[in-house]
Amino acid sequence: MSAPAGGWTTGTIIELDHPTDRLVRLRLHVDARVDHLAGQHYVVRLRAPDGYTAQRSYSVASDPDDPLLELMVECLPGGEVSGFLHDVAEVGDVLELRGPIGGWFVWEDDVPAICVAGGSGVVPVVAMTRVARRLGLQDRLRVVVVARTWDELPYAAELRRYGALLALTRENLGDRVAAPPYPEEVAPLAAGAGRAYVCGSVGFASFATRLLEGVGVPADTIRVEQFGETG
Ligand SMILES: Cc1cc2nc3c(=O)[nH]c(=O)nc-3n(C[C@H](O)[C@H](O)[C@H](O)COP(=O)(O)OP(=O)(O)OC[C@H]3O[C@@H](n4cnc5c(N)ncnc54)[C@H](O)[C@@H]3O)c2cc1C
Repeated sequence: MSAPAGGWTTGTIIELDHPTDRLVRLRLHVDARVDHLAGQHYVVRLRAPDGYTAQRSYSVASDPDDPLLELMVECLPGGEVSGFLHDVAEVGDVLELRGPIGGWFVWEDDVPAICVAGGSGVVPVVAMTRVARRLGLQDRLRVVVVARTWDELPYAAELRRYGALLALTRENLGDRVAAPPYPEEVAPLAAGAGRAYVCGSVGFASFATRLLEGVGVPADTIRVEQFGETG
């Protein structure tokens, strides 16, 4: 499948909220928007009055059917772009955007799949679950998400309602004692999957890839999106 690709445009912030201290959720009206596929991302470019620019990638959380484009940004300590979006951006601001971007890390609903995502790496997976729910294809998309605590997991309540396995590593959740996901928990979800999606920090991606391979997922079916430092 060839994924849609969009050029530079602008987006107006229509809604902005802070679901937790470290997260900001932005919902934008995008001019001449090109519909995305679940899993794609946009580049956000900030421009100072002296012409200095900084740009970073942010995955789309929204269903392509949503009239607004939703981004969820984790504010990193000292983060240039995430700090601005978290602390300074306001409803009505206009941002420079380029997208949608990415043709590899997109959900194709023809094959049963498993996603393993950590921290803000859940954002593209949320878009996938929203599409799966709309199409009634939840059985084709199984999800494992990992974070230290409930508050550090974007969309925790929505992912739990979807039926994702939530593995919190520093907080008990119901009967589940704090721990990374166990192979015994992941194996039944990976059974029959013809494709896997892994998303998160570089360290998380390597952990999740090993976990999936350990429960029998072939390496060549695993698609990885790393939220490493932006060059
Ligand atoms: C395809 C793609 C999609 C992404 N989607 C999202 C998303 O949906 N939500 C989201 O919050 N982020 C996402 N990111 C990460 C995002 O692009 C930025 O890297 C992040 O917001 C930090 O940018 P900054 O300008 O705030 O920090 P910077 O000013 O660049 O860095 C501040 C500090 O944070 C460290 N740092 C920089 N980037 C990261 C990182 N990703 N992880 C850990 N430490 C880092 C730096 O070493 C530095 O110490 C995505 C990245 C990619 C490549």
